Amino acid sequence: MRVTFCGAAGSVTGSCHLVEADGLRILLDCGLFQGQRDVEARNRAPFPFEPRGIDFVVLSHAHLDHAGLLPRLVREGFRGDVISTPPTAEIARVVLVDAAHIQTEEARYRARKARRRGEEAPPPLYDVGDALDSLDAFRRRVRYDEPVTLKRGVDVILHDAGHILGSACVEVRAEGKSLLYSGDLGNAHRPLVKSPSAPPHADLVLVESTYGNRRHRSLEESVAEMKTVAETVLGRGGNLLIPSFALERTQEVLYELFSLWRRGELPECRVFLDSPLAIATTRIFARYLDYFDADGREVFSRTPNPFSFPLLHYAQTTEESKEINALRQRNVIIAGSGMCTGGRILHHLRHNLWREDSGILFVGYQADGTLGRSIVDGARRVTLFGEETVVRAMVATVNGFSAHADQPALVEWLRQATPGEVFLVHGEAASLESLRKAIQSEIATQVHVATWLETVRL
Ligand SMILES: [Zn+2]
Repeated sequence: MRVTFCGAAGSVTGSCHLVEADGLRILLDCGLFQGQRDVEARNRAPFPFEPRGIDFVVLSHAHLDHAGLLPRLVREGFRGDVISTPPTAEIARVVLVDAAHIQTEEARYRARKARRRGEEAPPPLYDVGDALDSLDAFRRRVRYDEPVTLKRGVDVILHDAGHILGSACVEVRAEGKSLLYSGDLGNAHRPLVKSPSAPPHADLVLVESTYGNRRHRSLEESVAEMKTVAETVLGRGGNLLIPSFALERTQEVLYELFSLWRRGELPECRVFLDSPLAIATTRIFARYLDYFDADGREVFSRTPNPFSFPLLHYAQTTEESKEINALRQRNVIIAGSGMCTGGRILHHLRHNLWREDSGILFVGYQADGTLGRSIVDGARRVTLFGEETVVRAMVATVNGFSAHADQPALVEWLRQATPGEVFLVHGEAASLESLRKAIQSEIATQVHVATWLETVRL
């Protein structure tokens, strides 16, 4: 068996690893490169393998940096099966179609600008037709811990990664050896998804390193901070905006708001979920309660519950979203995008950033160069829809909602896998190096930072 690192090697996004075992060619993830323009340019580079020659894609979960290049892979000739859990297949359906819409809109915008310069812009990376074609490949939906035989002697097993709904670590057994790919690993004791399951022993482990140099603050501290911000902003009659990622983070925020409300600790307010994508993913969550931990199942099997309680309103259409603007007082508005790079949150920022009584609560990572990051960093003025807007609203950040394991959790997970050899993927340089040192000092194993297109045999 051998593995070649085709993405997320020395960087976070673009997860893709090619496993060759007993004549089969298996891709672990096929993710989009995300970030600055030069990083995103890699999405258009030729694949370092022949898409027609790939027999299977095993998808760890439905985040775009793990699944977002599937439509291009199918358009360029992949005809095999995608293997995933049932929730991953369903979430991929809405996420990939949404991504195709965004790609198409951005390509149109670039084309308009290019025409004015007398130039031509490239077509979208893929369109909705390509995304729909790729969904036909999701032919194998498997539950956790059920082995799938790809051919005699080559088996794949998905283990619960505890990162988002349906997320998996992937075990490949072939030629008398075993390889374990962590996908993205979550944290133990979260309100919705189960804790990551104990990993099996593996001869070679590929482990994510997103927060390989961090220790998270506890979720309890973050919820307490969220409560304080809500009391301050709603108490003085302002609106509280929560820019949020549509998948998992939004559902966790709803869970915490519901819990505060049920305990009588949320000031009088209305809560709006203003994002068609987040509404669609929330509906999928509600269909998979058997993937929740025991507490989550208990909470959601009742009415009211975090996805349906008297304060909560879903804004699906553009008109419903615009109507929120007329409501000046005591609204909690959850909208995308999570880093304020687009989406409906921009309209709400335009109506609230300049108001001293309003507030913005960031519950997720804000990448360099994004509008969210400049607000978090204390910008006094920002540009919205070409217009300068002063920042007078309260700005707060809570860091405990992370869906990624921190350094102690990553090391502990690896300790349980008793790996023969470890390769670190999915991390920036500082995280990779810090995690490598921590593993080396705490576990007696060989540990390396994976490099792009490097091939390892086992
Ligand atoms: Zn992820």
